[in-house]
Amino acid sequence: MSLTLDEIQNFKGKYPRQIWSLFFSEMWERFCFYGMRGMLVFFMISQLNFHEKEANLQYGATQAFVYAFTFVGGLFADKLLGFRKSLFWGGLLMIVGSLILAADPHKFFFLGIAFTVVGTGFFKPNISSMVGQLYKPNDSRADAGFSLFYAGINLGALLGGYLCIAIGKGEILGGTISEAMRWNVAFGLASVVMVISLINFIFTQRRLGTIGLQPGHPLAEVKAAPIPKWKEYGVYVLSLIFVPIIMKMVAKTEYTDYFMWTIGPLTLIYLFYEMSKVTASERKKLWAALVFIIFSILFWGIYEQSGGSLSIFAAKNLNKDLLGLDPNGVNNSGGAFFIIFLAPIIGLLWIWLNKRKIEPNTIVKFGLGFIFLGIGYYVLFATRLFADLQGITSLNFFTLALLIITLGELCLSPIGLSIMTKLSTKNLQGMMMGMWFLASAYGQYVAGIIGAGLATAKKGSTNYDVLITYTDGYKQLGLYAVIAGVVLILISPFVKKLMQDVK
Ligand code: GLU
Repeated sequence: MSLTLDEIQNFKGKYPRQIWSLFFSEMWERFCFYGMRGMLVFFMISQLNFHEKEANLQYGATQAFVYAFTFVGGLFADKLLGFRKSLFWGGLLMIVGSLILAADPHKFFFLGIAFTVVGTGFFKPNISSMVGQLYKPNDSRADAGFSLFYAGINLGALLGGYLCIAIGKGEILGGTISEAMRWNVAFGLASVVMVISLINFIFTQRRLGTIGLQPGHPLAEVKAAPIPKWKEYGVYVLSLIFVPIIMKMVAKTEYTDYFMWTIGPLTLIYLFYEMSKVTASERKKLWAALVFIIFSILFWGIYEQSGGSLSIFAAKNLNKDLLGLDPNGVNNSGGAFFIIFLAPIIGLLWIWLNKRKIEPNTIVKFGLGFIFLGIGYYVLFATRLFADLQGITSLNFFTLALLIITLGELCLSPIGLSIMTKLSTKNLQGMMMGMWFLASAYGQYVAGIIGAGLATAKKGSTNYDVLITYTDGYKQLGLYAVIAGVVLILISPFVKKLMQDVK
């Protein structure tokens, strides 16, 4: 018998049992996504003979589009498809994308990527929204649930990020798979895990009660007229039309600039339009959500140096004093590794603090997130104290910075997902989650600009100068992060008022 929403939300214990199924679907999806993302730059340079700068710009463009599309995916889910159908459609597009890449990554590279971009847009925001619906609006266990879910995200990121590229480069199964086929197998693996994600979701659906049903479904929580079939199919067709457009836009990165300058203002105008239709109290909550979204752009702009300038820093300025590990490998996967262990602990810490009535509210958690991020960047700055004359410094110390930055991420990213679901009205959940991720798109974009700024300052200089330039930059970023954290804590009474009953 199908569960009612009340039965799901009145669960006993720390976590609702459905969260585990969503955890696994998201884990496999992130395996596919991060597996592919981890191969992009390397593949473009080594296989498609792209110049380093070009490859980086194209990588940035893909990331910006991926997260920008989550807004579109969230919007269509709210209005026409519902979370479940959106997720399924997105998953199918991701499978098609990785199969195309598996068939011939050299010939169909941008086509495969474009499918993945659109598919992720439909999948990613909507699964997070479903996690939110497992909880009643004021259930204090929600942040812990999202922290657990976040561990799933990172388990997938760690496995996919490591395995796919290692297969592509022949470091794993190099003896079994012929050199000509390695990249096909690596991209193929991404499609296999995505199939697992969807199969898992098919089984999960049975226990989701009314969560994620299409608007207009007779059992849906928000009552609405049924959606005509042509509209639903229209969304599918429209998303397919987007594929060649994205393909062109990613291939020519100047389009990304135009796109980024347009999409943000347009979504804001649309949000203001939607805000005009809700009650005054709901409107205040949406304003609060916007404060979180805007701050998160700055957070990701600083944080996402990991894919850009920090990977160059890792390659040039770090030794292997951490168990002989490769510094770039540590930079790529260290954060995910820490999250898997820390996320459940931090989740339980929130529950523990809540029981003692001393749990910080979301805005203060965000502030703490920025402060940890800032301290982490100050530690990156301090790596220069351990440097030799060649400008090579300690990977151990760098890893300590990663740990602190990860603590910051855990105070902001899962909490952000959770607060989006609490502050949005029921019919705007998908869109607000999409906006949250759209902020990540801007973060990626800003990160690229910051990273490029750090990189240009070092022309014709020694490795030691590079160290000094980068670490000076990191000190500056650390300072911005700490200031943002303090500002957030200072404005917390004001934002709390906007949030009203939401904690
Ligand atoms: N690393 C997280 C994920 O992939 C966060 C994404 C973001 O908001 O930028 O889900």
